Amino acid sequence: MRYETFCGGIFETNCYLIEAPGGPLLFDAPDGACDWLVSKGVTPKLLLLTHGHFDHVPDLAKIKRRFGCQLGCHADTAPMISDPDFFRRVGFELEIEPVEPDFFIAATASQDFLGMEMEVLEVPGHCPGSLCFFSHKDKLLIGGDVLFASGVGRWDLPGGDGDLLFRGIKEKLYPLGDEVTVLPGHGPPTTIGTERKTNPFVR
Ligand SMILES: [Zn+2]
Ligand SMILES: [Zn+2]
Repeated sequence: MRYETFCGGIFETNCYLIEAPGGPLLFDAPDGACDWLVSKGVTPKLLLLTHGHFDHVPDLAKIKRRFGCQLGCHADTAPMISDPDFFRRVGFELEIEPVEPDFFIAATASQDFLGMEMEVLEVPGHCPGSLCFFSHKDKLLIGGDVLFASGVGRWDLPGGDGDLLFRGIKEKLYPLGDEVTVLPGHGPPTTIGTERKTNPFVR
């Protein structure tokens, strides 16, 4: 599977563009992602969110408006992206244009996204509704802010829970197989095997 990465915003948030059989599929929408797509001449057909944190969604409204693509996310993500006060209530002064999702995604063994079969794993703890998208065929995991190279997502933001996060990584991600490549929300790609053997947080 071919994929491309764009990293944007002050939190250096990754988004991933995948060429699915039915068209370009984008995961997450950090600051600058819309201009990146325009400069590449790519029109995404579907945008999926790993979770609703403010660094993954700044260009959501812009991308949706410009390309008219569908937006899918977990039901718990909806208030984070549709209520402009959601993060302001907990002290973050943010100006992010609110967006309504087109459909909800829940954990499932297999779902077709633009002709690509993916397993959807729900791994909360970093935040509620945090999703990982796994292609068995390509041994590729779009992991969001759950598991990083030598790290894990922070669990001190609203709805975070460290124990829940560690357990989810151990019970849901590590069994996917050592050879699986993880494309995380921040930092470089890694593999399940590397993290299972060397991750300082979850081994
Ligand atoms: Zn996050
Ligand atoms: Zn993030």
